[in-house]
Amino acid sequence: MAPGRNLRNLRTPSRGSGFDIGIDLGGTNMKIGLVDGAGRVKARRILLTHAGAGPTQALERAGAAIADLRKRRRVASVGIGIAGLVDHVAGIVRVPPNLPGWNGTPVKQILQRLTGLPVFCANDANAVALGEWLHGAGRGCRHLLCVTLGTGVGGGIIANGRLLTGANDAAGEIGHTAIFADGLPCLCGHNGCVERYVGTRYVEDRARKRVRAQLKRLKDHKNQTSLFPGIKAAGPSRMLEFAKGDAARITMREVGRAARAGDRLALALVEEVGDYLGTALANAVEVLDPERIVIGGGVSRVGRPLLKAVRQSVFRRTQTWGAHPGDTVGRKLGIVFSELGVDAGIIGASRLRTLDAPC
Ligand SMILES: [Zn+2]
Repeated sequence: MAPGRNLRNLRTPSRGSGFDIGIDLGGTNMKIGLVDGAGRVKARRILLTHAGAGPTQALERAGAAIADLRKRRRVASVGIGIAGLVDHVAGIVRVPPNLPGWNGTPVKQILQRLTGLPVFCANDANAVALGEWLHGAGRGCRHLLCVTLGTGVGGGIIANGRLLTGANDAAGEIGHTAIFADGLPCLCGHNGCVERYVGTRYVEDRARKRVRAQLKRLKDHKNQTSLFPGIKAAGPSRMLEFAKGDAARITMREVGRAARAGDRLALALVEEVGDYLGTALANAVEVLDPERIVIGGGVSRVGRPLLKAVRQSVFRRTQTWGAHPGDTVGRKLGIVFSELGVDAGIIGASRLRTLDAPC
């Protein structure tokens, strides 16, 4: 383990009456929150990032929002989770995929100058893992894997009661683990990454294509059976109904709604997504042996059908030590949804100061 690259977490996080600022910086929005010692967001500001206009203007606007949130409050620190590789010791962002022109930005230095407060930086999914571990669905664990499902697939690992950052600040990048040796090309330049199969845009794309194909089949079928009025054709997927009849408007929201309503086409798609994600998670389980996996991010709003499919996939693919083959009783592993929801990034970032100084 390289010195200065692993952070030890305080055993007991501060639950005092002070406040910290947590920032969840993404390519579209900057979510900034005032968070108390128990991990509750007391006030928040959501600003557009305008990433293309460069880091200086965005961080200055963030600084103004922080000044507003701090009025009459004692704030101890600012923590910021950023989508991309983040050198957490130097506080510099590297190769952020959704923040063009930000590569090499000394975020920590700039925010310290703007606020006069100590500033702590991390990858956004790592910050989410920290938040879920301290205040959310990962409470009480010493071994946790946290996955965020959205346009991208991020991850964070708590191993032996520490946030694992890795030799290159790149630990937990489960989205870019391959589930097919020669699969579809991913934006990262490699093939077969799980993100290429479960990222929002790809799932929505498959949903639209399948609904259109189904409509065509139904139309053909209707033409063939019009001479036999006694045969009643099945209707189209409810994804189409929820998208007001326009397949192009199908999003994860419609996929989830239809799946929860028992729509067969939507359920098949969600089961497929759960199986792909479960394959990547099973690989991670074999390496990390977590006691809990927390699944968060927008895609998790699909709900129970997704969780069921993920659990089936993971337990089917991981070693167990039960009395019979396939018996999962022997493995201590829970798979649950996030408890912090959309605030996970803010809450986690606000806790970055509870990490010890680099060892
Ligand atoms: Zn990739």
